[in-house]
Amino acid sequence: MSSLRDGAERLRQAAGYLRRLADRLERGEAERSEFDRAVAEVLGVQRQAFGLRPRARRGEGAKSQILMYLQAHVGQDVSGDELGAVSGIQEWARRVRELRVEDGYEIVELGSSTYRLESATPNHERSKQWQQANEIRNRAGSARSRIEAFLAANVGQVVTRQQIDYVANIAEGSRRVRELRDELGWPVNSHIDEPDLEPGEYRLLSTDPADFRDASQRLYPEDLRQRVFERDDYTCQVCKRNRAKALAAGDTRFYLEVHHKVAMADELADLPVSARHDIKNLVTLCHRDHFEETAKLQEQRRRSRRGA
Ligand SMILES: [Zn+2]
Repeated sequence: MSSLRDGAERLRQAAGYLRRLADRLERGEAERSEFDRAVAEVLGVQRQAFGLRPRARRGEGAKSQILMYLQAHVGQDVSGDELGAVSGIQEWARRVRELRVEDGYEIVELGSSTYRLESATPNHERSKQWQQANEIRNRAGSARSRIEAFLAANVGQVVTRQQIDYVANIAEGSRRVRELRDELGWPVNSHIDEPDLEPGEYRLLSTDPADFRDASQRLYPEDLRQRVFERDDYTCQVCKRNRAKALAAGDTRFYLEVHHKVAMADELADLPVSARHDIKNLVTLCHRDHFEETAKLQEQRRRSRRGA
């Protein structure tokens, strides 16, 4: 009974919190994500006090209690507090990791100890990837070198932000992925480049330096790149290929870049932002046609300079 009383008290507190949050939202002082988190927490209290509570069989450990609880709430956001209460242990986070890494359950971490089990059954491909992640995590070297090793071991495959953070053994591992892409030119696709990817999923296309990205790509903000790709239907405007067509033709290294129709790569940085980011000047090309177009533009410039 005490969990019911506790639950009622926590719901009362949550109602007060939501009311204050509503005021802050109205004044523009709170983020939508704060609200989503509060709702997840309220639902967690509700589940704990009144919801489905799978009963572990005698002798079964904390880990299987956590698993059963997650399986009873597939696709729902579950808080760490709930998992702690269900399992009666402090190190529930470690058990969650084991379920993911050793047993292959697709458990997404939604930040600030909120979790979601995507499917009641384990995914063996994912499980293998996690075991490999575990092996690379234990290697010496920098966080970045471990991320590089993990991406390179999964060329063409989808890897997740959780795996990257795990391998790097730091939070914000995905920031290192962006550095690899923007500073070293690794062709790593995100949901911006490939609409089939979810936010937080990445795909390294190639480790061949010939396939590396054009350095000027980092001058375009992500939302602008997305608008250009969307407008052009994720299709190269020269060869008219999209990723599906390229794959069907056996080209697994196909990826898209933004091409500036007027300015050369070395002029882009000095261009006023309004001109650089004017979507009318931008067009979607595959990285090979981008290279060709750039070479052509360069040749034209050389000729006109000689002529002048
Ligand atoms: Zn093309």
